[in-house]
Amino acid sequence: MLPVFDKFFYPRSICIIGASSKPKSLGYELTRSVIEYDYTGKLLLVNPKGEEILGIKCFHTISEITEEIDLAILMVPKQFVESSLSEILSKQVKAIILITAGFKETGDEGAKSEKRIVDLIKNSNARLVGPNCMGIINTHPQIKMNATFVAEQPREGNIAFCSQSGAIGAAVLNSLSETDIRFGHFISVGNKADVNELDLLDYWNSNDDIKILCFYLESFVNGEKLINYSIENKVTKPVIILKSGKTESGIRAASSHTGAIASSDKVIDSVLRQFRIIRVDDLNDMFNTAKGFEEFPMPKGNKVAVVTNAGGPAILTVDSLESNNLVLAELSQSTKTELRKIVHPEGSVNNPVDLLPGGTAEQFKSVVEILLTDENVDSVISIFVEPIMVKALPVIESINEIESEKPVFQIVMPLPEFWEEYRQKSKSRKPLFRFAEDVSVVIKNMLLLNSKNFSSKRLEKKSVNNSISLDGYTGKFLPNDLVNSLIKEYSIPIVEEQIAQIDEIEKLKLNYPLVVKAFSEDIVHKSDFNAVILNVKNIQQLKDSIAELKSNLAKKGLELNKVLLQSFLKTKFELLIGAFRDKSFGPMIMFGSGGKYVEYLQDTTMCSAYLNDEDIENLINTTKIGKIIRGVRGEKSINIEKLKMIIKNLAQMMIDYEKITEVDFNPLIITEENELYAVDIRIKC
Ligand code: ADP
Ligand code: MG
Repeated sequence: MLPVFDKFFYPRSICIIGASSKPKSLGYELTRSVIEYDYTGKLLLVNPKGEEILGIKCFHTISEITEEIDLAILMVPKQFVESSLSEILSKQVKAIILITAGFKETGDEGAKSEKRIVDLIKNSNARLVGPNCMGIINTHPQIKMNATFVAEQPREGNIAFCSQSGAIGAAVLNSLSETDIRFGHFISVGNKADVNELDLLDYWNSNDDIKILCFYLESFVNGEKLINYSIENKVTKPVIILKSGKTESGIRAASSHTGAIASSDKVIDSVLRQFRIIRVDDLNDMFNTAKGFEEFPMPKGNKVAVVTNAGGPAILTVDSLESNNLVLAELSQSTKTELRKIVHPEGSVNNPVDLLPGGTAEQFKSVVEILLTDENVDSVISIFVEPIMVKALPVIESINEIESEKPVFQIVMPLPEFWEEYRQKSKSRKPLFRFAEDVSVVIKNMLLLNSKNFSSKRLEKKSVNNSISLDGYTGKFLPNDLVNSLIKEYSIPIVEEQIAQIDEIEKLKLNYPLVVKAFSEDIVHKSDFNAVILNVKNIQQLKDSIAELKSNLAKKGLELNKVLLQSFLKTKFELLIGAFRDKSFGPMIMFGSGGKYVEYLQDTTMCSAYLNDEDIENLINTTKIGKIIRGVRGEKSINIEKLKMIIKNLAQMMIDYEKITEVDFNPLIITEENELYAVDIRIKC
């Protein structure tokens, strides 16, 4: 028996329930697509009137069918979906695509009906794609299945594409003749009631026809599971994700600094990068990147040589290299000497090499070949803008002929008729790129995968039970004693401090200078209440400070009975180390510039708490403060090892204590004596 996902993509028989003889109806168009794309298996149609559709006689009902059905495509009107589904399931069909819309996307009633459908499916051990989707394509010559209502004839390839939006899927399919994307598999997953991106990730990763996985997603079904897949090294192929809804922000009530900064989009960005999953900004970048993986060798590094016949596009390309962390290769002297023999005296032999508008096919080819032999060059970009005197096709083809272990990407800006000519006459039909910025994105994305490094071990959940009970604090900040127990368990260094009753202040033995902070459950950010006074030097100043705090709080209608007294630290740097639990991706760690102005400094990065040493390194290095604390302008580096330990321990705490939702160490002070202390800690459940 075929595994169920093979039944979706490699069915030996398809049954379309709701096929129609009425042109332009979905039931007709989908049937027509299947027939016209020459599906190699058996096609069965069901239509209550028993019509003949495109030469095939329909069954009146599913029950009339005696043959085995691998894949059922259900596209009956909504009111018949549940009953038809029951009939299909009773025929032991295990793979079902539900095209019909009108479920969760329409509100409560629809959601309930969708839930009933999922229950039916689960009870029968079947799988369902959709509802509210547009079907599946497999271009493999032994299958040739276009079970969508887009009447395109996609070319065979190794790219798999999963679209959460039917319209995006249709748009991509409609423009195939222009974009030349070569799909192996296409699937529109609609509402993802059952089959979702994780199923497909799993399936495609072990499917030999697929080399590159592309996803257009509007939501992640389970981010933490995606992380687990990556941790277990289950995904070995390039995965490219276009996630929409980027502007979504401020999803959390801003109860801590960390919470205020964390937006779901930043979480997605950080996690995907951490686990080497490629995220792109648009469909153009997605498929360019996919083509990069499909048809070009992997670049070994980030040094790029550019050859061009026009100034402007080369400048744009060079600019885009920089913004994608790539560099212009420094050409060797011997390369330049060789180039000088070919390049026009007025053209440049420095990178970018400029052949001027007269640059011919032979010149382009020779220059690219010379550049490829230079050890400092990891990849070559050739830019050709078609002038009147040189035809595009011979130039492009002569470069296509070059064989090399390094990738050669071509950006072409030709006359409009070129594209059709290229499709007709090109021998290799290698992908070409249209915009100056396209290739930089492709190289950057390919390099991200190259740098796959899972050498050091990631944190895992501790097997021992947590000793500290956090029951009863859901939605609340933890009281001081619990905070202190946690801090102790995870060896977070805190400044010497004590809580003091104001009326007992004179009895205490104190070491000055001190910091006095109002101690009140009602205050979240003390600075907002002028509730912190620094550098208090003696008892008189302490009394004055307390009086001042009392009066500051009284203005806001708050009473003050206790103060927190801390040693006053000679501060060199203020850092923020935070943590929060994302609804989808689970425990996250944040690092950056700290203090009162964190929200304004905007110098924080984050990553999943399932981190390894390399991630901590990246977390620190990608912030400005992270570079500064390592020592600039002749200064000594701070104790980075200690800092890393604190980050690691906090991550472990987030993994161990699932009830904790937010943690804020702001600031973690680095003193002039190079000691690290958290002076303001908040933990919320
Ligand atoms: P909040 O964040 O609630 O306003 P903090 O306890 O973080 O209050 O204190 C505010 C600022 O005071 C800190 O950002 C830091 O600059 C400074 N500060 C706090 N505690 C100390 C301390 N023990 N030594 C030196 N400076 C401190
Ligand atoms: Mg603070």
